[in-house]
Amino acid sequence: MIYFDNSATTKPLPEVAKLMYEDMLSEDSWGNPGSLHELGTIAYKSYINAKEDIAKCFSCREQEIYFTSCATESANTAITGYMRRNKRLGRTIISTKTEHKATLEVLERLASEGCTVKYISVGRDGKPNLDELSNAIDGDTALLCFTHVNNETGSILPLNEIIDIKNSKNRQAVIYLDCVQSVGKLPINLSKMGVELASFSGHKIHSIKGNGVLYVKNGVKIDPFILGGGQQNGMRSGTESPLLARSFALALQDATSNMDDHYASVKEINDYLRTELVKRKAIIMSPDDALPYVLNVSFDGFESETMLHCLERYKIYVSTISACSSKSKKYSYVLEAMGIDRKQSANAVRLSFSRFNTMDEAREFVEKLDEIYALFSLRK
Ligand code: PLP
Repeated sequence: MIYFDNSATTKPLPEVAKLMYEDMLSEDSWGNPGSLHELGTIAYKSYINAKEDIAKCFSCREQEIYFTSCATESANTAITGYMRRNKRLGRTIISTKTEHKATLEVLERLASEGCTVKYISVGRDGKPNLDELSNAIDGDTALLCFTHVNNETGSILPLNEIIDIKNSKNRQAVIYLDCVQSVGKLPINLSKMGVELASFSGHKIHSIKGNGVLYVKNGVKIDPFILGGGQQNGMRSGTESPLLARSFALALQDATSNMDDHYASVKEINDYLRTELVKRKAIIMSPDDALPYVLNVSFDGFESETMLHCLERYKIYVSTISACSSKSKKYSYVLEAMGIDRKQSANAVRLSFSRFNTMDEAREFVEKLDEIYALFSLRK
């Protein structure tokens, strides 16, 4: 099998599987962290240790980390929670049309509830137009929502420029950053980055599904989304799962160690594929300076889904559009917002890599692609 669909989800690390298996069989690690007895204390300590490990990887404080079920929940909580709690700070949100649906759908709902949502256009490189951004920010701007690395194209957000513009126009406005595709691939230092809210997903970093994180900077107030027993300082009720917390921490520690080496090996794969695919008349949709972990490419003469299923016959797995929305829409709204015509977009396939992919796999991919091309040219 060649798995080039790591932006959709990743294979859990053997270490994560082992941790879960051993933990679930253990006699004393299954307690409720909220219980006052010894079993509860063991569970609570394990849970807090995981939080501390995560905070260390992100250079933030343990109290700024909250566990959720997924990044979608983190995005919902951050964006809705901030706007509900801070009504007097403004009712305007600024974002782009290339955000993940976890953000876009929340913005739509807030707009229907009376917020003003301004969408900044993006260029062919997927980056927001900074002049437009500067003109859009005013005294009513409460929140800016952006994605660090786009899940369909790998386009990297010019975060520092955005923060400078935001601070020059309205220092009070806060930034929500979707870090789902950047974590473990780009450095993330939450105490220095200049964002107040951020979301992360365990299943994109070789942990398991059902495992998300929300960062809320100390001092920033948001309304909780899930009410109940008041766990996680009332910010996200529901019995805490030390096991999920530790799985996330373990996967994060692994993802953030040797990040430069992993980046270099994935870049080699990406560079090789770009060169070989262009020779075969494919069009690269990802910008030149995209994160190498994502390569969006349009194969002339092959609709996305046809190519996906041809590759699947060789047990090579890729995506059309993004896995979350690929069953409901034909054209990618992200590519559309980047000004890419529908003919190219209809043929676009996303290859997405992890640090565990190899150059041998990349070479085999090209070999199989040639076989597919040869088969189809015989049929024409
Ligand atoms: N944000 C981005 C950029 C994503 O790629 C995804 C998942 O594809 C999400 C958010 C949602 O993550 P989750 O599956 O954890 O809800």
